[in-house]
Amino acid sequence: MTGPTERRDQLKAVYDEAMGCVRCPLHESRTTVVFGAGNADAELMFVGEAPGAHEDKQGLPFVGQAGKLLDKLLSEIGMDRRDVFVANVIKCRPPGNRDPHPGEIESCQSYLWRQVELIEPAVIATLGNFSTKLLRGDTTGISRLHGTPEVRMVGARAVRLYPLFHPAAALYTPRMLETLRADFQRLPEVLALGPPQQPEPAPPMPDASPDLLEPMPELEPEAPPSPVEPEQAAQLGLF
Ligand code: URA
Repeated sequence: MTGPTERRDQLKAVYDEAMGCVRCPLHESRTTVVFGAGNADAELMFVGEAPGAHEDKQGLPFVGQAGKLLDKLLSEIGMDRRDVFVANVIKCRPPGNRDPHPGEIESCQSYLWRQVELIEPAVIATLGNFSTKLLRGDTTGISRLHGTPEVRMVGARAVRLYPLFHPAAALYTPRMLETLRADFQRLPEVLALGPPQQPEPAPPMPDASPDLLEPMPELEPEAPPSPVEPEQAAQLGLF
């Protein structure tokens, strides 16, 4: 369990690390790393595929046409970007918006796992095939899965995964937009289910005798979240 202040600090540390990332060749062609942005305490996280040209320039996720549609769908259910955290499977733009390569996904995925671990969302809405396949750990496609929530482990956390069509695909296919909108309308119901039960923490090592264990120190009450400095807020887009 991470408190809000610690959560922001740790997320900022992951952001700083990602900004200098050279784990895959995409660092050579990117303008900037698109780490993800939004509410660090969000109950709902969206995971898209990879930044496009606008995102690569601005350093923020979903700021092009697909992002405008995402905003519209959010507003239709009474939410906005300040309520959610938005990230991608891949943090750097693949040249010409080609599909991410498996090696790029593998190099990048630990950033996403750490984002999920720190933000602790109850629900992750995966947008499109790439994030759905990565977070479910199998190859079942979005057409079969969209609109059906299921509890899955993402790293050490149980989350409700809610696969959705990618807004970019829905931009040009009216029937897909209808389906995406209908699935979106059910998001409040999925959120109302609350966080799924987390697995029991691992038991202590069998030979650790209870009197060898340190007593728990008294915990200080948690300080309220520190205000994020304006410069940092613009880069990381934290609310
Ligand atoms: N498409 C994505 O998957 N992510 C973005 O950030 C923008 C478009």
